[in-house]
Amino acid sequence: MKICVLPGDGIGPEITAEAVRVLKALDLKFEMEEALLGGCAIDAANDPFPPATQKLAKEADAVLLGAVGGPQWDNNPRELRPESGLLRIRKDLGLFANLRPAILYPELANASTLKPEVVAGLDILIVRELTGDIYFGQPRGIEFKNGERFGFNTMHYTESEIRRILRVAFAAARKRNKRVCSVDKMNVLECTQLWRDVAKEVGKEYPDVELSHMLVDNAAMQLVKNPKQFDVMVTGNMFGDILSDEASMLTGSIGMLPSASLDANNKGLYEPSHGSAPDIAGKGVANPLATILSVAMMLRYTFANEAAALRVEAVVKKVLAQGFRTGDIYEAGTRRVGTKEMGDAVLAAL
Ligand code: NAD
Repeated sequence: MKICVLPGDGIGPEITAEAVRVLKALDLKFEMEEALLGGCAIDAANDPFPPATQKLAKEADAVLLGAVGGPQWDNNPRELRPESGLLRIRKDLGLFANLRPAILYPELANASTLKPEVVAGLDILIVRELTGDIYFGQPRGIEFKNGERFGFNTMHYTESEIRRILRVAFAAARKRNKRVCSVDKMNVLECTQLWRDVAKEVGKEYPDVELSHMLVDNAAMQLVKNPKQFDVMVTGNMFGDILSDEASMLTGSIGMLPSASLDANNKGLYEPSHGSAPDIAGKGVANPLATILSVAMMLRYTFANEAAALRVEAVVKKVLAQGFRTGDIYEAGTRRVGTKEMGDAVLAAL
């Protein structure tokens, strides 16, 4: 079992170091090798996704990423920006399924801007299609016609693209509370009428999982009104972009949220949902828990080791219950710790 570790920029190296300590402590005989991605790769090799990184990522079973980016590279031409390295690795590995859990641990209920009773104990999973939809559809552009500019994009999905992301959602639901809500806009968009038709067909393959459908505008409302009604939500690239950010913000604690991007064989890239946080980089105060929880997702989805995944998640719950908090989730009466101390607490609990 080979893991490619890409610490990246900003707080990336600090938080991945703690996640790597957790991986080693699990004693599951992983082979781990580090490589450069993002700004650090631009500085070292003038390429945000150098060939050596590409080779390592291809050979590995899973990739653990910290975060990339920082103000020092913001004015570079597009192909020499850290984020282009991220887009290239996702494309290169064919990662079409993005899984973003939004979990609010009861101990952190005050971190949300919503009333604690609405969000405490929230545990939902957004499954977003990542390589299709209006973001990639042709034709697209801005043209001049009849004396004025007009802009246009094309929303499209093939039934095979819809089927494979629905299957990811159903498989994930089987490991959770066995409910899938498929989100579309079938009352207006033909493309998403097809989405709903295919979702119903795929649903028949999973009789043990309950399938419901919701229009995207209602889904956006329900997420703030009663988010705990959902288990797994699955949707296309654009709706998923918006709904997954909305769902993660329900928790108010970006330093706690992991993510996974998977290919057709469950090879995956695992990373925290947050960025490289240049404002706190190098200070040893970043929250490593989102990256540690990304390791739990890696164990679950790539290595099919549910017991180890649950163990890591239980340990995170335990350190929160013990009162350990990094600055981003600190509140009076709890114990403020830095990145390494939080890692120490996790290892001790493990
Ligand atoms: P950000 O997520 O890096 O930071 C937003 C805020 O949250 C900051 O105040 C930061 O200090 C805080 N924060 C984030 N992670 C934290 C953690 N683990 N512990 C404690 N506090 C944390 O978003 P941003 O400031 O918009 O972007 C900074 C850089 O990160 C940019 O260059 C951006 O392009 C990049 N970025 C990268 C990724 C990625 O690598 N996948 C994702 C988003 C942004």
